[in-house]
Amino acid sequence: MRVLIVEDEQLLCEQVRGFLAQKGFAVDIANTGSDGLYLGEEFPIDAAIIDLGLPDFSGMELIRRLRKAGVTFPILILTARSRWQEKVEGLEAGADDYLVKPFHFEELMARLNALIRRSKGSAHPVLEHGNIQLDSVAQDVFVSGEKLELTAYEYKVLEYLMFHKGEVISKSALAEHIYDEDFDRDSNVIEVFVGRLRKKLDPDGQNQPIETLRGRGYRIPATPT
Ligand code: CA
Repeated sequence: MRVLIVEDEQLLCEQVRGFLAQKGFAVDIANTGSDGLYLGEEFPIDAAIIDLGLPDFSGMELIRRLRKAGVTFPILILTARSRWQEKVEGLEAGADDYLVKPFHFEELMARLNALIRRSKGSAHPVLEHGNIQLDSVAQDVFVSGEKLELTAYEYKVLEYLMFHKGEVISKSALAEHIYDEDFDRDSNVIEVFVGRLRKKLDPDGQNQPIETLRGRGYRIPATPT
């Protein structure tokens, strides 16, 4: 999942980026409202964390502009003050949740995960498909109750496909959601990840959950075949 952080405190940005990257998120950073607006409109972001106090225009204004531009990803606001008026105003501007600084990174991640799950139409943290269970909080995958050893990127690919069951996801869309802006994306690498993932999910080739749609991408069907 790809997360946008809009925050002008460099140190906090780097700390949050480091923490989220370690948890498997791709992270883009903007230090101003205008950069946040650009990244939020142009990139396939899955959720944003927006600080209300930004140097050019306020986080509140940024949220209004993003929503006005038709951006629908979930937004979590960071506010330094615990003034209730600001929380209400933020939620009314189109934010989905808020966190008061200073906060615990674990709480930030839990809220972010919950927002992303709900935005993808799944309130429960464990996604299921046939004999596969994917725990999006612990980031564990089980096949018929047995835990799989997946690399971080294999997990990210599977998680994205599971969150978008029934949809055809192109290789480039997958690459965009699992890597951030600074990464040199190569869609051939996605093929390698998917190939390895398939072997791990279905070593006997009996019950392959990931379909290939030639020239279009990959899909986990809405209901198991
Ligand atoms: Ca700030």
